[in-house]
This record gives sequence, C-alpha cells and structure tokens, in this order.
Amino acid sequence: MVSFSCFHRRPPGSVFRPSFSKIVQILEEPHCEPRRIGRTEGGGLFDCWTHYGPAAGLPELRQAIADYVSRTRHVPVSSDEVVVVPGGKPIIFFTILALIEQGDEVIYPNPGFPIYESMIHYSLGKAVPSHLREERDFSVDVQELASLITDRTKLIILNSPHNPTGGVLTKRDILEIAEAIGDRNIMILSDEIYSRLIFDGEDFSIMSVPGFKERTILLDGFSKTYAMTGWRMGYGVMRADLATHISRLCTNSVSCTASFTQIAGIEALGGDQSSVDNMNAEFKRRRDVFVAGLNKIKGFSCRLPKGAFYAFPNIKRTGWPSKKLADALLAQAGVACLSGTAFGEYGEGYLRFSVANSLENLNKALARIEDWVGKNLH
Ligand code: PMP
Repeated sequence: MVSFSCFHRRPPGSVFRPSFSKIVQILEEPHCEPRRIGRTEGGGLFDCWTHYGPAAGLPELRQAIADYVSRTRHVPVSSDEVVVVPGGKPIIFFTILALIEQGDEVIYPNPGFPIYESMIHYSLGKAVPSHLREERDFSVDVQELASLITDRTKLIILNSPHNPTGGVLTKRDILEIAEAIGDRNIMILSDEIYSRLIFDGEDFSIMSVPGFKERTILLDGFSKTYAMTGWRMGYGVMRADLATHISRLCTNSVSCTASFTQIAGIEALGGDQSSVDNMNAEFKRRRDVFVAGLNKIKGFSCRLPKGAFYAFPNIKRTGWPSKKLADALLAQAGVACLSGTAFGEYGEGYLRFSVANSLENLNKALARIEDWVGKNLH
C-alpha cells in the first residue's frame, strides 16, 4: 500500500530553501472574488450575523441551496435535505465517518483528491482505487468499476470535473456507471465542487438519474464557483434522514458554519452570475495557452482538460519520477507545482499545475520550465 498523507509537512532541515518571492506559484486558487458578496443592503455583514446558527445551516441558505440544486440537477430537493458546512471538505469527512466501518470497501478515483483516501484509511475502511487513465481522458472505466464492486462495497466516490486531471464525466459515462451499480445498496458521494467550471461538455449529476437521488450525497460549495475558498462554506445534499446524522456530526465538531458567511452565500447564489461566467471564460483562455505551452516542452505532453482549473501533463518521457521533478522545478526553476503522486499511486508520471494564475505568471512558468528542461534533460 502506498500511503500518503494530506497533512504531510516537509521535515525540518529540508534542503528546499527557495526564495518565495521568486517562485511562480502554479498551485493557486480561483480568483473571481465578487467582493459585493460581502456587502448587504443594510451595511456590513459583520454587524449582526456574529452568533451561532442552526447546525445544518441558516434556513434561508438551505432553501436557496435546495432551489439551486433542484434547478441545476433537475431533481426536486427540499431544504431539510441540505446541510451547510465550513467548506466542501467536511462533507467528505462527515460522510465517510458516518457511513464507513472497519472493512467496508470504498471505491474512489486514483489519481484523485487525497482526502478521500486519507479518510477511508482513517475510518478503517478498505480503499479500492478506480484507476483513471490518460488514454480515456481520465474518465471512469465503467467495466473496471463494475469488476471492483463486491458485497462489501459501501460507497463509491465520483468527482467531476476532476481534481487533479480536469477530466469530466459525460452524461453517457454517468448513465453507464449508474447501470453498473444497478439497484445495489451502495451510496455514492458525488463531489461536484467544480460543477460550474466546465469548458467542454455539460455538467450531469448521478443525482439526476432515476432511483439514485436516495443513494447520492452531493458535495458542492462556494470555494470554486465564487472564489470564496477562505470563507469556508460548502454543502451536502442527501436524504433527510442522513442529513440529520450529518448535522449531528456538525453539532459535535464545528457547531455551525459562520453565520455571516452564510448570508454572503445567499447573496452569491441569488445575485448576478456574470463573474462566474467571466472567470470560466478566463480559465479557458489560460488553459489553452498553458497546455499549448506545456506541449512544446521536451518530455511533456498534456491533454486538454475539460473542466476545473488544472493541467495534468504526462512527464514520463523526461525519465524523471514525478516527485523528484516537482522538487527540482521548485528548487531550481522557481516554479511550484505538485507531483502527481500527491494524488495517489496512479499519479506517478504526471505533474499538476493550476491555471488559476495570471497569464503573465503562467507564461513565466512555461519559460522557466523550458529553460530548466533545456539545461537538465538530454
Ligand atoms: N473536492 C475537491 C475535488 C477539491 O479539489 C476540493 C478543494 N481543492 C474540495 C473538495 C474541498 O473544497 P473546500 O475548499 O470548499 O473545502
């Protein structure tokens, strides 16, 4: 078993002492920042919304989310099926904590968001990787998925658009996955945090497939869509009886999500969405420039990601292991990216870059990588 922890820190005395002012960060976050979200008609948010609220979220926000999800996933959702939490991550944490017991099997994407595997191990479940392959544009191989399902499978995790590859599951993929699951008593955690960041194709949720709403826990939030990563606000949509349990985990951990951020959430969902569309168009432009640039670098080849804001180039032809290459690019070229192995064992042979950065910085990073490759790879 290859174990990797999301909470890994570089050991003290590490050889990496780059000058941070000179590093081009290609790990960044979205940037649309609709600042108006922080203002309300009556003035500043912080004037009155500074007290505890209900564990599952303020009723007005839960209703606004229920309306939004009903509209975007074409399935009726009521407010008692919504649990608001501080970011999307707690939905992963709480869902796995609530559902998984020792020996239960969880199928999850690999490469994939590392929290899935960490939490499966933490809950003493058995982590069963579903290998996302480049030649399939990093979509799920449904036949392989079907072969991984056993009597002990309790949960299947889907993530589309996908971190770190930018892969997007098509409606056809989702329907085939649903067919493979059939009417088995298996829950699905559908991580759709990038649902509004799709460049090619359309967002389609397994929650929309007849018979699946009852078995789906939908994860979505405000971090990516509204560039509100630091506000810490996300939500889960699930059967009302499950929502009661997840709310209880909120009570026992965070009590509730900060009240003033929830007021901002109502404003974000109900307000003008042009900043989201503009950010999407800008990411697409940057993706095109960055991926074209990567494909000109010796030893690198990169598919065009269809969603999210990441590029996941194949670097196998450099002959370097991913982690060593990522460390060398940071220390010697001043470009910060992540090793594909930060996302699981099947991330070997890849690097992950974020295009949520200025075109100027992205071009600077490309030039530095090209220069470094020219000097170090023959
Ligand atoms: N799921 C995926 C796939 C993500 O990439 C992220 C954030 N990187 C999250 C969930 C968590 O989002 P949040 O920051 O809102 O906790």
